[in-house]
Amino acid sequence: MPPSTKPSAHRDLDATTSCPKCDDTGWVSSAADDGATTVVRCACYRTSQIARLLESAGIPPRYQHARLEDFAVTSQMDDTLGGAKVTAQNFVEKFPRVAYGLLFVGPAGVGKTHLATGILRELIEQRGVVGRFADYRDLLRAIQDSYNPVSQTSELQILRPVLDAEVLLLDELGTRRPSNWVLDTVTHILNDRYSTQKLTLITTNYPDEPEAWSNNQTLTERIGAYARSRLFEMCQMVPMSGEDFRHQNARADLRAR
Ligand SMILES: [Zn+2]
Repeated sequence: MPPSTKPSAHRDLDATTSCPKCDDTGWVSSAADDGATTVVRCACYRTSQIARLLESAGIPPRYQHARLEDFAVTSQMDDTLGGAKVTAQNFVEKFPRVAYGLLFVGPAGVGKTHLATGILRELIEQRGVVGRFADYRDLLRAIQDSYNPVSQTSELQILRPVLDAEVLLLDELGTRRPSNWVLDTVTHILNDRYSTQKLTLITTNYPDEPEAWSNNQTLTERIGAYARSRLFEMCQMVPMSGEDFRHQNARADLRAR
């Protein structure tokens, strides 16, 4: 038996290291063409890096498994949904050579967050992008809570990862009642990302023109005229319409019983 096989056999039994190739150092030696030994990144390094990026992206448990490929489109569905999926897939394919983010607009339950989260996940997994999922209402609440004198976090601590993310997903834009402070804050976030030329994915239940499904409320009413026009300079609009899938699924469940 060659002596070199013995230590690695021991290592396999060692429960404290998870990568037997590098002993969790992230580096392995590799023989170069000239016979010299060089040190290169172990395959596990990328895996653990992606895991860290996914963890810090803050994708909520409900959308943890949302993937583009799982966004099923059938011929009974509204044509806009198939179009939205293709736009999402193209975005991932062309990244980072994309000039505009995406603004998914449509009624609740058509799959806007599923598609946007699917893009975010693909970009993290395939391109190692620093991504961030931020729920609009939760984000505003966290910023407001940071003003409390007993708060352990500062406004900057909350905003920094949102402003710095290479790709931000701002979910459910406009869902909070638009006070002056809300309008100022959303304008600040969009302006900052616009001026630093970072890509932003947005979902919203508020269309540009009044619709029955939005109770005739528009984006301008919910986020202000300034933020709305900035948004259209940063993002390509992706309209989605159709029935609420969650209701359809609930009805299917009832029929199956
Ligand atoms: Zn390794």
